[in-house]
Parts: sequence; structure tokens; C-alpha cells
Amino acid sequence: MEETENPKITPSRIHCFPVVSDDKPKDECAIFGIYNSPEAANFTYLGLYSMQHRGQESSGIVSSDGENLYRYAGMGLVASVFNEGNLKNLHGNMAIGHNRYSTTGASFLRNAQPMRVESHLGGMALAHNGNLVNSYDIRRALELEGSIFQTTIDSEVIVHLMAKSKSKNILDALCSALRQIEGAYSLLVLTNHFMIGVRDPNGFRPLVLGERPDGALVLASETCAFDITDTKYVRDIEPGEMVIIDKYGVKSLFPFAERKASLCIFEYIYFSRPDSFIYSESVYKIRKQLGFNLAKLKPVEGDVVISVPDSANVAALGYAEASGIPFAIGLIRSHYIGRTFIEPDQKIRDFGAKIKYNVIREVVEGKRVIIVDDSIMRGTTSRKIVKMIKLAGAKEIHMRISAPPTISPCYYGIDIPTHKELIAATHTLEEIRKYLRVDSIEYLDLESMHTAAGQNSKNSKFCDACFTGNYPIKFHASDASKEKYLFSDLSPES
Ligand code: SF4
Repeated sequence: MEETENPKITPSRIHCFPVVSDDKPKDECAIFGIYNSPEAANFTYLGLYSMQHRGQESSGIVSSDGENLYRYAGMGLVASVFNEGNLKNLHGNMAIGHNRYSTTGASFLRNAQPMRVESHLGGMALAHNGNLVNSYDIRRALELEGSIFQTTIDSEVIVHLMAKSKSKNILDALCSALRQIEGAYSLLVLTNHFMIGVRDPNGFRPLVLGERPDGALVLASETCAFDITDTKYVRDIEPGEMVIIDKYGVKSLFPFAERKASLCIFEYIYFSRPDSFIYSESVYKIRKQLGFNLAKLKPVEGDVVISVPDSANVAALGYAEASGIPFAIGLIRSHYIGRTFIEPDQKIRDFGAKIKYNVIREVVEGKRVIIVDDSIMRGTTSRKIVKMIKLAGAKEIHMRISAPPTISPCYYGIDIPTHKELIAATHTLEEIRKYLRVDSIEYLDLESMHTAAGQNSKNSKFCDACFTGNYPIKFHASDASKEKYLFSDLSPES
């Protein structure tokens, strides 16, 4: 097998990233809300804890006792932000919470959510999962009219638009604000009297409703947050639906013009936990089917199927089952690397993949190894992993990806590298193979991806823009850079 370095793809052309990065897309946020529970803050803490994978930069909770809104937020993981003492101060039987990974707005404490504000409408708190695509223009216009923003996150335009609304109540003001914004949002709003959950008309990001045995009602990004809080799944909040939860129960409204649904299909491929139900379907089932379809579409002779843990484990199981080739754990991933690891110099950076992954030599030595991953962004980590497997004595390495090539960035709340950084956007399959130094590489195709999720690609309810460049809401790269500039131009607070 030739080992030629593709001259077009040299490490210096590949964007460098922090040593702990696994070159994966990053989800923006998790949201959780609970109404009518004496343990509201504690359950919110548990819900956020179970959705830590959706955001690790900051975490926050706002609660209400019917008179006041209490807030606590901090930088870091849920378990390091909250403790018995600060949770005790989050009084009341209603709460909403948020885990953040920043895609707009830098990683500062002031950008931690939920944000709590006061206006002529009264006090309220807001937690947002998603990305607004017209917030730059709205924010600039509001600033020119005299608005003073407190954060650098796109979500803040929503509360400013609400405060400027002529509407007399929070519900009408929220509908009015949301009709002016474009993009992806699953939102929670908490007042001293009720909780609102709303999903944008395209339904990009998930939001589910559940009920605890004591009657408390719960909203969350993923159902894994229900399992930890003993909550029974009731249903998904529909795209374009707003639910108001108060002492009378759940009221449902559809206050926006209807749109064709474009649910994020990457939730099934990578983001969501496999024990969650997303868009009313088991993530585990669909992820396994992706691997199954991949084996049927792109078979290869091999002795063992291994996965890039943890996100590709289930797809690799599907591949192994469909191919009849045994699955084994060939790579071990360290779970104890925080995002706080400082960016090191080049010498240490080369250890990046070793810090995160290690190979089990007994599994790969002398074998034809089929390695299943769910996505490749820049390719830098994949290349390091392949090198490690080769050094452990693998005879052949065949890479199989359980999704189509990622060729376009996401503007709806997922941090995917820019077009020129995405290896599949700028290089042929053969060039990628040579760069990764594998014996073969194949991706799942678009149709098989949609089929695994129960759709066909022509008339799918899913967004697949990062694989096709067909954006359900028009957005241009120049807008992206404006947004990026606007929402990162403030200096960090201490
Ligand atoms: S562009 Fe990709 S990551 Fe973004 S919402 Fe669409 S499918 Fe999801």
C-alpha cells in the first residue's frame, strides 16, 4: 500500500485546533425546564447533567417561586458549576436551565444562559438552543436606536425585540419578536407564573415534552434528560409550535406561518445520545441502521470492525452486524479531558490524538481493520488515529463513514468548520484516502442516510445542508462572517 503524502494536503494547509479537539462538529446547547416541582432546581441540574455532551463551556439555571427569579450560572461543566449550596438558593417550583457551547458570542461568563431580564413586561428568563441567521442586522438596527446589549450572544436580540414590542404581555411580545427573527431556535422562557417552550417553524433543533409521576411538566432537548429525572415522554413539540405551561396545564399554539420541516439529521448521526429519542425515533435504532446501510453499500473484506468512540460505536455495531465481520473495541477514549486544556505549542499538539485515544494492540495487530466513524471534518484527528492503529500493527486499514461527506458549514446552531477547512469540500475521495493513509475510504450516500431515518432524500423532513449545501433558510458566507465579527468583538470579562 503506497504511503504517498498528497502534496495538496499538507498539515500546514490544515487548520490547527486545540489539542483536545476531536475534529468533530460541536453542538451549541442543551435546554431543560420544569414546571410545578418542589425540586425544580435539583431536577434541572440533573437534566443538564445528562445533556452535558451538548455543551461544556458554561451552565446556568434560573428558578422562580412565583415572586422572584433566581439565577446562578458559571463557566465549566454542570457538576463543577453547581453544588448543594447554590442549588439551595434557586428557590421555587419552576426552573429552566442551559448548557452552552458557543457558536456566536465568545465563551465568557456574561454569555452564559439562561439570561434573566426585566422590562415593562415584567421579569423573565430565556434559554436558547440554535442559531439565529439575521441577528446581525437586527442587533445593529437596535443599537442604532439606542439599545445597549449586555452580552454578545445572538439570543439577546429576542429579549430586546420583546421589550420594544407594543404588546402588553410576554406571550404576544414573544410571538412578535420571533416573527422578526430567522434561523434555528428551540427556546424556553420562564416568568413568575408560567413556562413557555417554542420550536422554530423549520424545527431545526429538537424539543420534547414529558411528565413526572408527581404531575410536574418537563421540557428538554433530549429524552435522556427524562430518564434521569424519572419523567415520562409525552410527545415532541412540533416545528412552529409554542406551548404555554401554567396552573391550567399545557396550552398549544402555532403562531407562525407554516414551513417545510427541516429537522437536523446530524442529531441522529452524531450529536444526540444513543439512549435518547429524537423527533420521536430512537437515536440508537437510526444510528445502527446508518452503519447497517453503510456495510451494504460499501462492503470491504476485513477481520475486525472497530469504531472511533464513542459517537461511532453504534454505527460500527450496525456495520458489523450487516457484514458478518466481528465488532471489537479497538480504540479507547479518555473521558477526562476538559475544554480548559490550554492550546500548546506544536510539539505537544502532535500528542493530541494520543491524549484522547489509545489503541488496543491485541485487537488490531496483524488484522485487516475496518474503522467506522460518523464524520470527518478537517481530517487531522482521523489521520492521527490511523497512524496509531498502523503503529499497533494493523495489516490493512479501511475507513467507513456512516454519513455522506461533510462539505458545507452549518448556520443553524452547529459549529462545523468553514468550507475551505472541510477536507471533503476541497479534495477528492482519493486525495482524502492518501492524506489519511488508509487502504480504502468510503462514505454513506445521501439516499441511504435519509432511508436510515425513514425518509427519502427528495422529500425528506430533514435538513441535510452540511452534506449538500442546500440551505433551508438562505444564508451566505458573508453574513456568517458578519455574525462572527459582531458576536466576538467584545473583550472577555474576568
Ligand atoms: S446544516 Fe447539518 S448540522 Fe446544520 S442543521 Fe442542517 S443537518 Fe444539522
